[in-house]
Amino acid sequence: VKGLTKTRSNIMEGIDQVLKSFKKIDEELFEELEEALIMADIGVDTTLNIINGLRIKVKEQKITDASELKQLLIEEISSLLERGDHEIHVDEGPTVILVIGVNGVGKTTTIGKLAHNMKQQNKKVLLAAADTFRAAAIDQLEVWGNRAGVDVIRHQENSDPAAVIFDAVQAAKSRKTDVLICDTAGRLHNKKNLMEELRKIFRIISREYPEARKEVLLVLDATTGQNALQQVKLFKEVADITGIILTKLDGTAKGGIIIAINSEMNIPVKYIGVGEGIDDLQPFNPQEFAKALFA
Ligand code: GDP
Repeated sequence: VKGLTKTRSNIMEGIDQVLKSFKKIDEELFEELEEALIMADIGVDTTLNIINGLRIKVKEQKITDASELKQLLIEEISSLLERGDHEIHVDEGPTVILVIGVNGVGKTTTIGKLAHNMKQQNKKVLLAAADTFRAAAIDQLEVWGNRAGVDVIRHQENSDPAAVIFDAVQAAKSRKTDVLICDTAGRLHNKKNLMEELRKIFRIISREYPEARKEVLLVLDATTGQNALQQVKLFKEVADITGIILTKLDGTAKGGIIIAINSEMNIPVKYIGVGEGIDDLQPFNPQEFAKALFA
């Protein structure tokens, strides 16, 4: 997987060191492995689950040699990552994707990449600039729209986000758009307002576009490690998140957070961002990711 070298080497290093320093599987090995997994940002609860799973398998399969533990670990993580629906089913009819997340995580960039990605799948794409709070956000989305070659429905700064969504939905219907991707405000410090805003947006989409499939994608910055987990908890209170896009995996050793999110929050990761370019978005492949971490 391109761009994951840093993620891989970091998690590998700690775990490899532990596995290499033991010949036989004993209590001390499990303890050190537990520490290495937590250090890799995998999260305490998830780590304990993984270790438990390993203990059971070791006992069942009567494994005594520490060198056999790595393969079991890959299987354990792989099966954690596989849970949930990792796809966005754009072939199954018109789709509205609501993109949420705090400012700076890479929301606008991700929308640009996503638009490009869908267009390459021969889909008709439209963007809605419903983060009306910042003029810069609207302009930035327009820049990405141009790059991807897709139209952007926009209003003036500080206009009602729900009105932008209303117009965008009408445009999507009349133009027979396959995928409408909506940017939203990321002002999490005003949770009540954000919740109201999103509720209004959802209401309009359900009322005006009942035939569309709905996706709510939360964008998270992988470099923020455990902070990203906090953001999932907060956004879960304001929206039914259907998937996560984890950005900046190219520049971080904190890719382990992906495992914690998948397992502790029970939300599938759908895409990963591995750079600032328009092509730097990849569908998340659980098996490939687990293998890349420990290959
Ligand atoms: P927003 O405020 O959430 O809309 O964030 P932006 O889309 O403006 O992105 C913030 C910064 O993160 C920009 O400098 C982007 O180029 C950068 N960025 C976004 N995604 C990625 C990624 O996957 N990798 C890297 N290295 N940078 C990214």
